[in-house]
Amino acid sequence: GVVVLGSANMDLVATAERLPGRGETVAGGTFRLVPGGKGANQAVAAARAGGAVRFAGAVGDDDLGRRVLAALAAAGVDTAAVTRAAGPTGTAHITVDAAGDNTIVVVPGANGTLTALAPAHAAAIDGADTLLLQLELPLSLVCEAAAYARARGVRVVLTPAPARPLPDGLLADVDLLVPNEHEATILAGTPDPDAAVRRLAERCDVVLTLGARGAVHAAAGAEPVAVPAFPVTAVDTTAAGDTFVGVLAAALADGTAMAGALRRATAAAALSVQRPGASDSAPTAAEIDSFLGG
Ligand code: ADP
Repeated sequence: GVVVLGSANMDLVATAERLPGRGETVAGGTFRLVPGGKGANQAVAAARAGGAVRFAGAVGDDDLGRRVLAALAAAGVDTAAVTRAAGPTGTAHITVDAAGDNTIVVVPGANGTLTALAPAHAAAIDGADTLLLQLELPLSLVCEAAAYARARGVRVVLTPAPARPLPDGLLADVDLLVPNEHEATILAGTPDPDAAVRRLAERCDVVLTLGARGAVHAAAGAEPVAVPAFPVTAVDTTAAGDTFVGVLAAALADGTAMAGALRRATAAAALSVQRPGASDSAPTAAEIDSFLGG
């Protein structure tokens, strides 16, 4: 199965005609609580696509934490390895205006307390085939977890988001890196996607996602291969990348070969962008099968 070691947040989303200026109060329209965090979103996408998925992360001992756990469980994610931190669950405070522009304040909360590998999280990695990581937890933990998994023969998949330069050595413990264009530019130091994927593939297997243009896969040291997207009408591309990598990891953990896993991930992302929402727009295994004509 897949273990996701990553962030779990509750997004607090308010809409307003326009965003307030400094020191200003504006009247809002709607308010919603939406479970989020890249780690939790990837776990939900992987589980909805049929994977055996365990989430390893932390929530606070508060009502938002209980809601975050309930949402993961409702998607079929095993939450037994989630730890409770003192203090609040991670939150994202999002304001969206009528044009769709937003401001976001992220308070890491429990996520930020995970600076070293907890025994429950290590045990979850021991029992997994694939470890899925992002960069929304402290970097010290991401590096420790990658090294721990690598030493035990557990496949390590990293989404390098939010984009930042990585410490030397982390990529040596990563089997598969899945950046989007922005992240690849920062990591490879070049804005040319083809050059970026070649440079990164000197270090590990790379799948560079290119939005509606699909993705490029380069096995470590090999020639890049294009993975075209399905032509669909996108209404909301939020979390397309999280759906893509969650489904990719679930398929690889199931023993599906890379080409087939990329096809499932591409189909799942194409389905998700046709619906509004973030992780709640991730498709089920049956929906992916029917989209692929199986
Ligand atoms: P991120 O959300 O991390 O920025 P991308 O935008 O690169 O990630 O999208 C990830 C994958 O989702 C792409 O490789 C592609 O397969 C699929 N995808 C994204 N946008 C579209 C779209 N408009 N139409 C079809 N597929 C899409």
